[in-house]
Amino acid sequence: MSRFTITINALLLSLLAALHPGRAEESPTYEQLLKIDVHSHVFEDFPALNDLFRRINMRTVNICVPAGDGHLEQMHRAANELSRKYPELYPCIATFDLRRHDRPDYAEKVIAWLDGQFALGAVGVKIWKEVGMEIKDRDGKFVLPDDPRFDPIYAHLAKVGKPLHAHLAEPIDAWLPLDPASPYFSYYSKRPEWHFHGKAGVPSHADLIAARDNIMKKHPTLVLIGAHLASLGHDLDAIADRLERFPNFHIEVAARARNLVRHPSDKVRALFLKYPDRIMYGLDSMWKPFMREKPPTDLERRGYLQMLELRYREDFDYYAGQGEMTYTERQVEALHLPRSVLEKFYNGNARRIYKLDAAAKHTAQ
Ligand SMILES: [Zn+2]
Repeated sequence: MSRFTITINALLLSLLAALHPGRAEESPTYEQLLKIDVHSHVFEDFPALNDLFRRINMRTVNICVPAGDGHLEQMHRAANELSRKYPELYPCIATFDLRRHDRPDYAEKVIAWLDGQFALGAVGVKIWKEVGMEIKDRDGKFVLPDDPRFDPIYAHLAKVGKPLHAHLAEPIDAWLPLDPASPYFSYYSKRPEWHFHGKAGVPSHADLIAARDNIMKKHPTLVLIGAHLASLGHDLDAIADRLERFPNFHIEVAARARNLVRHPSDKVRALFLKYPDRIMYGLDSMWKPFMREKPPTDLERRGYLQMLELRYREDFDYYAGQGEMTYTERQVEALHLPRSVLEKFYNGNARRIYKLDAAAKHTAQ
């Protein structure tokens, strides 16, 4: 197509938009909309998954985490390989070993490791809830995420323009008695180590949220993404308060639509409309063959793909659809976000915040 034809087409399109106001805001179809899931953990070259992503117009930001289970290097090798082979489909986020924080050269070593990952194309850095909820100093005290020993690392990320993707704290439910009505009942029933209710000497939810706020106070140019609705899914006002106070704070919704559907839909919609540049889509699926004793079977692979396809579609119906719907067995009113907001939520913000377009070119070279 010549440049002339493109210009004429653009003119015709703007003429059409002027004749039919509102047309530009018509909802995109599921396949039309480029969707970037900013929160996956996929560590296998998995052709059927690539095919699914291409068919439904999905990409993912592939996150290395956790760092403390002994697979740090193996996990990064798999993520680097995927982002090198399919730079658009699997841009990756690196992580670092949080357990050696008491070594004198700790920050220096971590920075060198992360710089190596950036050279391989990593678009950001993940920090996980183990800081604040699991890792302790020699004196038995929990290490908090705003510990000064991490400051040189945060300052470095701010300097080189890499965002910190922060899953810090947990939903408030982790500090409340186990409740079958909670969306996290099953998780905390099976994972009591993360259920802090009734435990002595542990940080409170407020302590951990304050520690994260403090990172942003100390490093105002650091771009921070609060994973999982920033662990504030129970309180949309608390999220808005932080989006107001910290201009470099963003959130993603991975694994927390189950919180959103418990709020009135008009209140959730208002949050998206007020902060369209600050909220990103994510699901938080996990495919870690290296953690298994035996390689996954084809049946298991198919099961994973089916789950993904269902969940991606159900999420889209909630954010983009209209009217009453069933979301994980709850009746809710779909958000029916305007097209311009959906575009930012599903791809524009991720492309800008993680600089994905530049990263895809860099990794492909
Ligand atoms: Zn995750």
